[in-house]
Amino acid sequence: MDVLTPQQRKHNMSRIRGRDTKPEMLLRRHIHATGLRFRLHASGLPGRPDLVFPRYHAAILVHGCFWHGHDCPLFKLPSTRPEFWSAKISGNRDRDRRTIAALETSGWRVMVVWECGLKGPARMPLAEVIDLCATFVRGEVPYAELRGSWPRAREAANSYE
Ligand SMILES: [Zn+2]
Repeated sequence: MDVLTPQQRKHNMSRIRGRDTKPEMLLRRHIHATGLRFRLHASGLPGRPDLVFPRYHAAILVHGCFWHGHDCPLFKLPSTRPEFWSAKISGNRDRDRRTIAALETSGWRVMVVWECGLKGPARMPLAEVIDLCATFVRGEVPYAELRGSWPRAREAANSYE
């Protein structure tokens, strides 16, 4: 039985492909407003990075915490077919590592923006996210990563000192 309208199915498919997903759209719109210009899903580059800033040799990859297997509370292995998902996600992670290495080898600076930094309980203030992205693009740091501000075990331990 078909329980999805074509519109819903299209929406689901775009999420499954990991393209044009909501956090990415949000980021795009606001980065564009800072005056930085970028290309989307540049097909000539390894992994077709989400946002490419040719003038600055910088690329931003927006990673969904589930599909890219983020080490954060937004990632939970589904209880059905866990072996399948585990293999699938670890394949995605391997591919991400290769993509980032290939971009760096070709002289691109890379920033990974995790979904949990943009939405959910640990998200950062949007203005801060945009500021960090713009600073990265215009700067010289070879690699940066932005994630949700989840409490970490180490920080919890420090608070008892
Ligand atoms: Zn995450």
